[in-house]
Amino acid sequence: KKRVLSGIQPTGNLHLGNYLGSIRNWVEQQHNYENYFCVVDLHAITAPHDPQTLAPNSYTIAALYLACGINTEDASIFIQSHIPAHSELAWLLNCITPLNWLQDMIQFKEKAIKQGENVNVGLLDYPVLMAADILLYQADKVPVGEDQKQHLELTRDIAARFNRQFAKKQPVLKLPEALIQADGSRVMSLTDGTRKMSKSDPSDLSRINLLDSPELIQKKIKKCKTDLELGLNFDAIDRPECRNLLTLYMLMSGKTKAAVATECQDLGWGQFKPLLTEATIEHLRPIQTKYQEAMADKTYLESVLSNGRDRAATIAERTLADVKAAMGFSVRG
Ligand code: ATP
Ligand code: MG
Repeated sequence: KKRVLSGIQPTGNLHLGNYLGSIRNWVEQQHNYENYFCVVDLHAITAPHDPQTLAPNSYTIAALYLACGINTEDASIFIQSHIPAHSELAWLLNCITPLNWLQDMIQFKEKAIKQGENVNVGLLDYPVLMAADILLYQADKVPVGEDQKQHLELTRDIAARFNRQFAKKQPVLKLPEALIQADGSRVMSLTDGTRKMSKSDPSDLSRINLLDSPELIQKKIKKCKTDLELGLNFDAIDRPECRNLLTLYMLMSGKTKAAVATECQDLGWGQFKPLLTEATIEHLRPIQTKYQEAMADKTYLESVLSNGRDRAATIAERTLADVKAAMGFSVRG
């Protein structure tokens, strides 16, 4: 079977963007692949973080993987920092990655503005650690949202450069492909249809979290940004909020695009919002129930993470040894 790897940072609450852009696709395709899904806690510390919440957030995300339907027979679920090979490979790759490749990354530029004058080296290095995550598992496919496309291209460039420099006869690192869905790969903020929904957006009103209560979902949709036009459609390029909310309705209700287009063509926002609210609450209800179950059985969750870690570590250590051998490191006696 081909391999899939993906991950999410424990930087906050998982939202509909993370679910529709990423996790949903992991679940739908998991039977076709050998999967590795990690909680990338080492990435999470590239932004200022609270030591009190790092570990609990990591467990929450692992529990949400299970609640969304990740199956431990097809997938290894683990926490990135539990496998030191991630950090070690990142260092080795750092030493072959040109600085200007990293300075050109859109996410770095956007997040650096938020960090202000004190941009840490980790933020610049984020994509190299991500490349290490992927390349350690020789992943064929990486299901991610649209915002990670550039990082995937960088990962391929780093792998190709490594193979060119150190593994001319037989490649050591496999070049992975991004797997990006047509719909839901870029869910926009509820308060600004031109910006993506993010865990790290300071305003919680900008996103719908997977664990939001029905009342909160209703409140957020009631307050979300719309426009003054009547009639809703997918195509108007100057109506980003309209396109985003219709897409959310389509994906939450499971209806086809054609059905949603017909249903909503004559609706005003006041009629549409309750439909979206209802569909979202109903879609998230079973996930929330399963999440509560997963969190209630800590022993099971721990065992999922430790089994996942063991399976993942075996593969990661093999790749790391091959990389070090190719680079000419002495072998430890
Ligand atoms: P942060 O703001 O801390 O970067 P985030 O919301 O961007 O958080 P990540 O942990 O960086 O979440 O990304 C996890 C996965 O979710 C990635 O595959 C990413 O592409 C995807 N993703 C993030 N935001 C969206 C979005 N708005 N629409 C679709 N996919 C998204
Ligand atoms: Mg992100």
